[in-house]
Amino acid sequence: MVGNQPYQAGRHFLQIPGPTNVPDRILRAMDGATIDHRGPAFEELARRVLDGIKPIFQTQDPVVIYPASGTGAWEAALVNTLSPGDRVLMVETGQFATLWQSLATRLGLDVVFIAGDWRHGVQAGQITAALADDKNNQIKAVCCVHNETSTGVTSDIAAVRRAMDEAGHGALLMVDTISSLASIDYRHDEWGVDVSIGGSQKGLMLPPGLSFNAISDKALAAHAGAGLMRSYWDWVPMLSANKSGAFPFTPATNLLYGLNEAIIMLREEGLENVFLRHARLAEATRRAVAAWGLETVAQMDAEKSNSLTAVMLPEGHDADAFRAQTLRRFNMSLGNGLGRLAGRVFRIGHLGDFNDLMLAGTLCGVEMGLAASGVPHNKGGVQAALDFLGEG
Ligand SMILES: *Cc1c(COP(=O)(O)O)cnc(C)c1O
Repeated sequence: MVGNQPYQAGRHFLQIPGPTNVPDRILRAMDGATIDHRGPAFEELARRVLDGIKPIFQTQDPVVIYPASGTGAWEAALVNTLSPGDRVLMVETGQFATLWQSLATRLGLDVVFIAGDWRHGVQAGQITAALADDKNNQIKAVCCVHNETSTGVTSDIAAVRRAMDEAGHGALLMVDTISSLASIDYRHDEWGVDVSIGGSQKGLMLPPGLSFNAISDKALAAHAGAGLMRSYWDWVPMLSANKSGAFPFTPATNLLYGLNEAIIMLREEGLENVFLRHARLAEATRRAVAAWGLETVAQMDAEKSNSLTAVMLPEGHDADAFRAQTLRRFNMSLGNGLGRLAGRVFRIGHLGDFNDLMLAGTLCGVEMGLAASGVPHNKGGVQAALDFLGEG
């Protein structure tokens, strides 16, 4: 029994865009004795996960693992590379970009925040223009959210990299891949990202509690001259301990058991297949939304996220009342509208450990929930998705 809820038969459908469903294999892997984190068994585990996480970021660079939520890894990226008053360029893609921006501002950085309408991704042209204006190279970092989880919009990071290269600008590129890692193709090395920020509770199929920084040589070089205060987040003691399979403080051992299993599972499926699976389930979801006659928050087809879909409710209908209905009637949690989209939008998470029939159940719950809440829509969304999935 959780809170005051009596037992509800069958599985709860956790269809928020993170935390995602934790597969049984990972739950079992975590269900082990917590071991001596200075002993030989831990050292072997640490080496395995520190090595195994790299291909998921598509990098050869070191990746550090914090016992922290994603927000901690945002902070780590900034405090390890920048100094008080440094100018950073950020883009308002939605709520997560806004939160990262306010974190940066509170740290004492001078944030240039390119305004956005929360329906589009980062426009490379805006980056080009901002960098061209920056005659004295005051911008020290460009920070983007790859997959904006509040809107279901994915940005083209390769295009951001090209814009920076064409401008011949030396700023660091930092990218939040928290809700795209292990679900949407993300390439730390190929895209020349200096710090990639990941989290455990989305595509990696783990509970919340771990987050990541993948760190380029250039970012590490910036660390030496970076003046922001840091202690817990400092990369250097972390990297140095990691070299011998250790952490500078007590690691989240049981989450690392889970991470080890997640890495094995992703390797078994193949990262390419993981991306294709997410793309296919996302397309089926979009077909359902279109058939219902509802609108996605994302406006450009090329930017529609493969890890979640944010859906607008018609004017005058409360998305939170609809979500409460799907929870009460069908034992399914859908994501809420965040920030300026609160009450107007619901979000369907279709990332992580997820397959055709789980999506079918999810979409059935949405369609029945729309009817139960009196939200005007066309029937047949589920059918449109099933027809697409049935094609193979
Ligand atoms: C989930 C998420 C975060 C961070 O979250 P925590 O709640 O701190 O784990 C940051 N950015 C994006 C894009 C996310 O989806």
